[in-house]
Amino acid sequence: MHRIAVVGTGYVGLVGGAGLADLGHSVICVDRVEEKIEKLSRGEIPFYEPGLSEVVERNVREGRLSFTTDISLAVAESEVVFCAVGTPEGDGGAVDLRQVDSVAEEIGRHMTGYRLIVQKSTVPVGTARRIAGIIREHQSEPHEFDVVSNPEFLREGSAVGDFMRPDRVVVGADSDRAMATMRSIYRPLYLIKTPFVETTPETAELIKYASNAFLATKISFINEIAGICEGVGADVQSVAYAMGLDKRIGPKFLHAGAGYGGSCFPKDTKALVKIAEEVGREASIVAAAVEVNRLQKERMVDKVVDAAGGDVSGRTVGLLGLSFKPNTDDMRYAASQVLAAGLTERGARVRAFDPVATENARALMPDIEYTEDAYSAAEDAHVLVIMTEWNEFRRLDLERIRDLMAEPSVVDCRNVYDPEDFEPLGFRYEGVGRGRPKETQ
Ligand code: NAD
Repeated sequence: MHRIAVVGTGYVGLVGGAGLADLGHSVICVDRVEEKIEKLSRGEIPFYEPGLSEVVERNVREGRLSFTTDISLAVAESEVVFCAVGTPEGDGGAVDLRQVDSVAEEIGRHMTGYRLIVQKSTVPVGTARRIAGIIREHQSEPHEFDVVSNPEFLREGSAVGDFMRPDRVVVGADSDRAMATMRSIYRPLYLIKTPFVETTPETAELIKYASNAFLATKISFINEIAGICEGVGADVQSVAYAMGLDKRIGPKFLHAGAGYGGSCFPKDTKALVKIAEEVGREASIVAAAVEVNRLQKERMVDKVVDAAGGDVSGRTVGLLGLSFKPNTDDMRYAASQVLAAGLTERGARVRAFDPVATENARALMPDIEYTEDAYSAAEDAHVLVIMTEWNEFRRLDLERIRDLMAEPSVVDCRNVYDPEDFEPLGFRYEGVGRGRPKETQ
């Protein structure tokens, strides 16, 4: 059992902290936002993540998990300090490292003996070494410490399972002492034979960016193919299915859609382009994936305008789904933001529904209307758009939707349905990359 502090109780920090407690460690989670810590102390989870409240509740009850805003106390009482604060996009695509740097300063100031500092946030190559300098600079008296890189690969929406059953654990460390502690922290995962990749901090840092950039590129690749499908009259669903049957390609991340969003791919792809630039290299494939993604989000606006007959001004558009993907309330870089802005700019009235993201969406998009359910969003709409593939949108009563709408027209930005589901009911249906042979058009 290790005494661990986790600084930053966002998606990664809270899931990681609760997960580490579930592995048997004694964990104190720290955040600078008092409201978050107050909520957690009352047993409330500050964001939506399936299964997380049960793990948090169990570990609090069994005395392995606690919360504080006091980083000095957490650092003083722990032998290992995980850093899981945000690393948002900064100027020109570079990573804004202010949260990471300020945590390093605090750790330096408050350490009372040897500490192992674990960098879990996604940070540019060289950051582990750089924060070692910051810690040293802020120590009131010299104490030994190690900084290791341990990037996180969990996905929002299935974060708890991903943390407890990861495909791999990556640790970049310079010292045997640090690596031995990391092995010991993750030892319970050996039982499920999780591969443990031991490497240098630089390599570990780059593994995270390379993995995210590859997945984002796969998405942009299939979105590019989807555009070609529309032009030549082919169906991207069949193209992706057949491609995915090739084991060298695999079926994952080959779903044509509205473009990737979320807190990771958009900023991490841009950051990798920047990291390459800084060492005089060009990440041209990744840069192309970024550009294809930008265009894909805009293309969704064009699709809706076309579905409304070429002009959305004065027309009502119903929007189903706002979060960047299902099972999360995270709105960061969600394609729905580009769509809603594009439509309101063109004079449309937008009525939106999301099962859990409405509150976060309202803060970002105060100018659109929000409804209580999917059917109210469809009411009097000239076009209904499926923006996030929440399960509840997969089993809509389509006849009821048709009867509520001003005009029966659907734009399915996630290919949740097939044209055959809608067209026999009198709907106009537009998916992504669902081209049809010319003679049937
Ligand atoms: P987040 O924005 O949800 O949470 C960050 C938290 O850190 C916030 O609660 C913030 O208040 C807190 N914080 C910031 N500065 C602090 C300080 N000085 N002291 C204490 N608390 C502080 O971020 P996230 O989505 O959990 O991501 C964290 C990191 O993990 C990022 O680098 C991200 O790229 C990476 N990551 C995220 C995911 C994901 O799915 N969200 C997956 C893998 C990796």
